[in-house]
Amino acid sequence: MIAHLPKLLVGLPMFEGFVIPYVQVVQGDGAPEVGKIDPERLQRVQGERRCQMCGKKIGKKQMLVFIGGDASRITGFFEGGAMHEECALYLAEMVKLSQRLNPSKDGVALFAVWSYVLKKNTKGQVFCFVKKFEKVVWVVKPPKENNEASTNST
Ligand SMILES: [Zn+2]
Repeated sequence: MIAHLPKLLVGLPMFEGFVIPYVQVVQGDGAPEVGKIDPERLQRVQGERRCQMCGKKIGKKQMLVFIGGDASRITGFFEGGAMHEECALYLAEMVKLSQRLNPSKDGVALFAVWSYVLKKNTKGQVFCFVKKFEKVVWVVKPPKENNEASTNST
């Protein structure tokens, strides 16, 4: 359970102590379907500069925060939508918890940006494309970053 619930997420549907992301598909009993994204909601989030966690609009003067891995860092492409900073930090805590149960080999990072454009791949899937990251903060470091860190410290 995460102690601090950001103001933007107060009152939103929860499951087992966690806020259910706005774009997540929810079953009839209120349980989220793991890994299943609602395509209509995602389209709304991507097209209207909304937050994929709380569903509310992200102001023009607010930073957009994406969550992704090494591939996103290299290509600038993100499958999901952006988030408010506070919503992203909340999601990062969820990722850290699930990482303990199911560790991934790739890192997970938060990417703070000012803007993105939408791009479609050949299958018609829409991605957010980011040209420039203002800040990248690793939630879970990729293995090679860990190696670099340990080399630097010795
Ligand atoms: Zn939000």
